[in-house]
Amino acid sequence: MAKPPTFDHFRDVQEELGRSGAAIFRDANGVESLIIDSPYSIHYIHSYAEDSAFFLGLAEGKLLGSKCTNASCGFVYATPRGHCMICGQPTEWKELPRKGRVHSWTTCHFGSEAFLKETPYNLAMIEFDGAGSLLLVRLKDAVQSDLYVGMPVEARFAPNPKYSITDVWFVPAK
Ligand SMILES: [Zn+2]
Repeated sequence: MAKPPTFDHFRDVQEELGRSGAAIFRDANGVESLIIDSPYSIHYIHSYAEDSAFFLGLAEGKLLGSKCTNASCGFVYATPRGHCMICGQPTEWKELPRKGRVHSWTTCHFGSEAFLKETPYNLAMIEFDGAGSLLLVRLKDAVQSDLYVGMPVEARFAPNPKYSITDVWFVPAK
């Protein structure tokens, strides 16, 4: 039997796996690895627990950060956080602006299963007025050469939410 076909790009390997179930991936050093398609599934019941409001918020088109309840601290986090990293006091939910700026970014040529079909895609750290930390989120509708530090961006929310971080992404601000 013939060897499976060899590819230098993993996306081509993935396409071949869909066709024949086996391919050879040649990495940047010329090392060849046999890759096979080996599906498995699990049924995972996951509780968001105290982060629940964040995901319920995404479904309503809201980005919820966390604000320290200590009046002398009041630090605002751009992510769910039960307690303040600075003073240790509990936080409360605080809605973030829908617009922010690119603090940094990377372009992903590989990703976990949920994102594989979107490769290459951009992941960005977003900064917001009034928040002291950053949100890591996908940045769509922009190629790598369009991106720059400080670029204005705005949130988009999935019309049919899945209660997952994929319910939100950012695009260049109009
Ligand atoms: Zn605090």
